[in-house]
Amino acid sequence: PAMLGILGGGQLGRMFATAAKTMGYRVTVLDPDADAPAAAFADVHLCAPYNDQEALHMLASTCAAVTTEFENVNADAMRWLAGHTRVSPSGDAVAVAQNRILEKSWINKAGLPTAPFLALETVEDLHVDLSNYLPGIMKTARLGYDGKGQVRVSTPEEARSAYANLGGQACVLEKMLDLKLEVSAIVARTTNAQEACFPVAENRHENGILDVSIVPARIEPELAHRVQQMALQLANALDYVGVLAVEFFVLEDDSVVVNEIAPRPHNSGHYTIDACVTSQFEQQVRTMCGLLPGKTDLLSPVVMVNLLGDVWREDGGEPNWAVLCEAPNAKLHLYGKKAARPGRKMGHFTVLSAKVDDALEQAEALKDTL
Ligand code: ATP
Ligand code: MG
Ligand code: MG
Repeated sequence: PAMLGILGGGQLGRMFATAAKTMGYRVTVLDPDADAPAAAFADVHLCAPYNDQEALHMLASTCAAVTTEFENVNADAMRWLAGHTRVSPSGDAVAVAQNRILEKSWINKAGLPTAPFLALETVEDLHVDLSNYLPGIMKTARLGYDGKGQVRVSTPEEARSAYANLGGQACVLEKMLDLKLEVSAIVARTTNAQEACFPVAENRHENGILDVSIVPARIEPELAHRVQQMALQLANALDYVGVLAVEFFVLEDDSVVVNEIAPRPHNSGHYTIDACVTSQFEQQVRTMCGLLPGKTDLLSPVVMVNLLGDVWREDGGEPNWAVLCEAPNAKLHLYGKKAARPGRKMGHFTVLSAKVDDALEQAEALKDTL
């Protein structure tokens, strides 16, 4: 069987490996962490830095195709790999997603709105009228996730000290919008531009971290369709190959702006494993191998709840998994991480029910009993 390679061995890599191996592929994971969640699920674990020459040569010579599970991989390493084997998404697409300034400018250039933002390369860029962006959020251009590297600011003075406190690195100052709702759409696109879009998820965040995804999103079908078209438009504009996740803000008047993109499967798409004909991870395998995207039909309304380290007991004791395992319509997914730190994504569970509101109510009740 062909070998597939993935840069990164976190939970996304682990779920990718599961999908790939189910389909009969072998998997090589590159991750510097000996305990990476995907390591136990891989045929080969290259335990080395992401830019390690020997490891990259190994991927190039043994893998029929290579993908990534996170956007902060070295885009040049991906471009180099692409000279030797099939690589998706492209290093160029990943480079866009790893820098908020490039990302937002590029989304606007593709004809879609973002929140008003000011690109800050140096402190000098703050010496302008900031009133269009306040109150706002100062976000580092690079390496932020789960709300890390973000500071809420309401005055020019706060903006300046937030910029300094973030270390004077490139940032965006983004206007704080009144959100009615957050939603996401995940698309798959192949080299010959065949595409498929998963059902839109309605996402609730807690402290900047995804908490719950509700599918189908409780929005008008017209709005769901519009959001899916916007995600497809971005994939086309990037000539994207692979799985692309797009996060959106829905404003009070039902207008939609793009928040950010991820060049990979997404936390808000984990529901697809239990509730869709094809999962987002199978879709990643399919697109990287040049197969047609699988059907994305939703088999049942579903709610996904993230399990952060916070639900572990203070003495490190495990939550009460029995209540989840005993619920016949709940599915528990644990990522095999050893240390349960607050805010760390340890696992998730889904609840499937004929009515999405029932699934939500049951999911919330289950979380409370953990
Ligand atoms: P991820 O883990 O999804 O990559 P991130 O760290 O890149 O997250 P963002 O998606 O930029 O962070 O923001 C996290 C959350 O903060 C958003 O989902 C939203 O709830 C809130 N937020 C961010 N920007 C804005 C904004 N301009 N107006 C209102 N809320 C915002
Ligand atoms: Mg992000
Ligand atoms: Mg986000």
